[in-house]
Order: sequence, then C-alpha cells, then structure tokens
Amino acid sequence: MIDVKQLQKSFGSLDVLKQITFEVNPGEVVAVIGPSGSGKSTMLRSLVHLEEVTGGSIFIHGKPLVENGKYAGHTAIREITASMGMVFQHFNLFPHLTVRGNLELAPRTLKRENPQAITARSSELLSKVGLADKADVYPSMLSGGQKQRVAIARALMLNPDILLFDEPTSALDPELTGEVLRVIRQLAEENMTMIIVTHEMNFARDVADRVFFMDNGEIAESGTPEQIFGSPKLERTRLFLNQD
Ligand code: ATP
Ligand code: MG
Repeated sequence: MIDVKQLQKSFGSLDVLKQITFEVNPGEVVAVIGPSGSGKSTMLRSLVHLEEVTGGSIFIHGKPLVENGKYAGHTAIREITASMGMVFQHFNLFPHLTVRGNLELAPRTLKRENPQAITARSSELLSKVGLADKADVYPSMLSGGQKQRVAIARALMLNPDILLFDEPTSALDPELTGEVLRVIRQLAEENMTMIIVTHEMNFARDVADRVFFMDNGEIAESGTPEQIFGSPKLERTRLFLNQD
C-alpha cells in the first residue's frame, strides 16, 4: 500500500533521510519512534509531498509519487496525495472558520460531491470524534484535545485510506491525550492504515502492529512492539527507550 525504496533527503549538506526502505500493508498501524532530529517528520511529510525528496521512490497503491528521485506530474501527485490524510502536532485548524467550516473547506473546494452530502459527512464525522455539539464554534473556543479531534475529523473528510499522524498528542496536556488516543485507537480497530509518529510509548506498544525506531536518518530497527520494547537488538534503541 505504501512502498518506500531508498528514500533520501538532504537539506544542503545535511543528510536527513539516508536510503530509507519500508512497506506498510493495508490495515497496518506503524508507530515511528526516535530521538529529536532523527528525520521522523521529514519522512512523514515526504509521503504527502510536503517535502520533496532528493532520491529514492515512494509508491502509494502501486502508483509512483516519486520514482528514483523523479516526481510524477502535478495531476498524478494530487491524486496520489488525496488518498492520504495528515494530522499535525499543532492541529493547523483555520481560526477564521467554524469547526464545520474547517471540515468542509477541502471537499467544497474540490466540488466532487454536492453540499448536502458534504454536510452530512461532516456531521457524521463530528459525532464519530465526540464533537457533534461543536459544529458551529470557532477553534479558539476548543480545548487542545477537542482541536486535535477536529483535525482528525477534517483529515477523514476526503475519505483517505491512509492516515499519517505527526506527534498528535505532543502539544496536549496529559489529561487531554487520552481522548485523542481513543479516537486513533478506534480508527485502528476499523482497520485504517496509519503511520503514527509518537512519544507515547505505551500507546505505541498497544496500538501498533509494527514499530520503527528512527535514528540519525535511518530506520535503525523495526519489529513488533514486543520485539522493540521487550528485547531491542540495538544498544541505541535500548538507550533511547530507557531515557524516557
Ligand atoms: P522531532 O522529534 O524534534 O520532531 P524529527 O525526528 O521529526 O524531530 P525532522 O523534523 O524530520 O526530525 O528533522 C530532521 C533533521 O532535518 C533535523 O536535523 C532538522 O534540523 C533538519 N531539517 C528539517 N527541516 C529542515 C529544513 N526545512 N531546512 C533545513 N533543515 C531541516
Ligand atoms: Mg518531528
């Protein structure tokens, strides 16, 4: 479903992704852990074309977003990235739009469906994340946990079959992380394919099918949560896990 081969990204002389290769299968949940600056966000952003890589390939549903460093055309890129939703650490909601407005902006701009269908789905998704009563308020009226649940509902509006999360709970007070993790867990139970960059080790252990430990621009080690958390092969994985 996601097929990444020898992905490489440099900023000037800094090699941020060093020949990363991995696959993610349909319905799989991958947790990505690793120290600050190891390339986790850059890897995730590359998958949705928020970063342009400098080498390697990304296939989504078998279609090349970039192949051996050469990008597909604009239309193909738009089609491929439309099958993915992304949720950011800092929510990135539009402050001048209501909750419903945030959800409906992209689908209304794309005009693939009629407005009634779009409104029906935004209502349905707000219920799904437990915010049916917040449709008409502005983001500034919401708690961090509520904002993040709006961001998740918004990411679901275009019916993606892949969701990417970049530290979805890192900006939240501890008492608000649970409500966000519950929504992500529910998506996992519904077999959504997800890559989740997270510092929540208990959550990663619980929800992930596989864990990638990124370090210094590489996937240094990957395996089941039992392997990575229970008996990591590498000393640097052990050191990283023990410092938290
Ligand atoms: P964190 O856990 O702190 O979010 P990360 O693993 O997500 O870290 P990245 O944000 O992917 O790390 O950054 C990897 C490296 O790339 C870092 O050294 C960072 O300084 C560098 N980097 C990221 N974006 C840019 C940019 N636009 N220009 C130059 N360097 C960048
Ligand atoms: Mg990051």
